[in-house]
Amino acid sequence: MAKITTMKELFLDEVRDLYDAEKQLTKALPEMAKAAWSLELRTAFEEHLEQTKNHVTRLERIFDEMGEKPTGKKCAAMTGLIKEGNEMVDQSEETAVRDAGLIAAAQKVEHYEISGYGSAMTHAEILGNSKAVRLLEETMHEETATDKRLTALAQNMINNEAAGRSNTAGSGSIRPMTRTAGGFSREEE
Ligand code: FE
Ligand code: FE
Repeated sequence: MAKITTMKELFLDEVRDLYDAEKQLTKALPEMAKAAWSLELRTAFEEHLEQTKNHVTRLERIFDEMGEKPTGKKCAAMTGLIKEGNEMVDQSEETAVRDAGLIAAAQKVEHYEISGYGSAMTHAEILGNSKAVRLLEETMHEETATDKRLTALAQNMINNEAAGRSNTAGSGSIRPMTRTAGGFSREEE
């Protein structure tokens, strides 16, 4: 295989990696939504799936703009992050604790993407490819917003736990909560 020697080749390699990563995510997110225990988290995953489909499309526009065929290059990191998320689901019961684990797994994915998009944006700037910069930036905003939303979901869960705990000397384990139309409520003890 030819070695990468130019910034353009490096950028293209990064876009191919992101393209494969986003495609892997479009397959993983429906599974994560299914595994989520709370409606809020399931909805967050479902909404991010729709955004992720646009992330794929934006990368295709970058390939197109560069006169390249849209091809992915296997993103081993995303494969690994998804695998760890799956392991967490397999090893947990369907409770709020699983949601906390799923959020952590999803945030690792978002941080990986944010890092990849950040570098690609810098390299597109160096190449003077302002159209690519704009497209990458749009996706970056959505990844960042998703990351913040996941943090808020995790914090709410902890707040709910603090508010619902009847004795603070407990182990800190989250008691089972019941899924309701509006979200979830805690079971009576
Ligand atoms: Fe994405
Ligand atoms: Fe994402």
